[in-house]
Amino acid sequence: MLRIDVITIFPGLFEAFLSESLVGNAIREELIGVALHDLREFTTDRHRKVDDTPYGGGPGMVMKPDPLVAAIEAVAGPKGPEREGRVILLSPQGDRLDQVRLAELATKERITLVCGRYEGIDQRAIDLAVDEEISIGDYVLSGGEVPAMVLIEGVSRLIPGVLGNPESAEKDSFQRNGLEGPQYTRPQEFRGEAVPEILRSGDHAAIERWRAERAREITRRRRPDLLRDPSGKEES
Ligand code: SAM
Repeated sequence: MLRIDVITIFPGLFEAFLSESLVGNAIREELIGVALHDLREFTTDRHRKVDDTPYGGGPGMVMKPDPLVAAIEAVAGPKGPEREGRVILLSPQGDRLDQVRLAELATKERITLVCGRYEGIDQRAIDLAVDEEISIGDYVLSGGEVPAMVLIEGVSRLIPGVLGNPESAEKDSFQRNGLEGPQYTRPQEFRGEAVPEILRSGDHAAIERWRAERAREITRRRRPDLLRDPSGKEES
């Protein structure tokens, strides 16, 4: 079972996310375990302060290193070979999350996710206690909680048993260097648009070929970069 610890100042944001849908089921079925840790529990002052003004001036506040390092070390142990699992800070400065990284994380036994807030985190906390930084894309959100949920949901789909039909994940976009093609369900005709004839033919081999062609077509149109090998040539 993959155990995920989350360090955040807003544990309440995760409540519905962790109880509903696929992630909720995965937790109930003990396919993944998620433990939330309120960063304020690791402060030592009366006001449970987790942020302070930035050295050198500038807008906003910065997360203080002391409660963060205390929380990370209490949850995952000190940085180094003895540490259980990896500590990942969600951060715009991190490596961009993709399906390959999710698949790698899905094989782990334990990960700890640290959610930043304010203008970011004191660099010393990152240097002293974080193993890696992951970004969910080139844009800035107000906190690491939604990025952590993105990562948890993406990883969960790849844990055996979480999806009713394991083929669903195998056929997903990005699993095989491309996007998935169009999908249809009932009614057979909707506002004058009919479901492609081939999908109703019952010829499974022909349907597979049609799907593969549509997937390749949409990938070439929308994400040609996914079809190139590392040398830049389009893969056959
Ligand atoms: N001032 C920072 C910057 O310009 O890079 C942005 C800080 S952001 C307002 C606060 C927190 O949200 C970050 O510490 C991080 O934990 C999280 N966050 C925001 N955007 C993110 C992204 N694209 N990927 C992962 N985490 C993100």
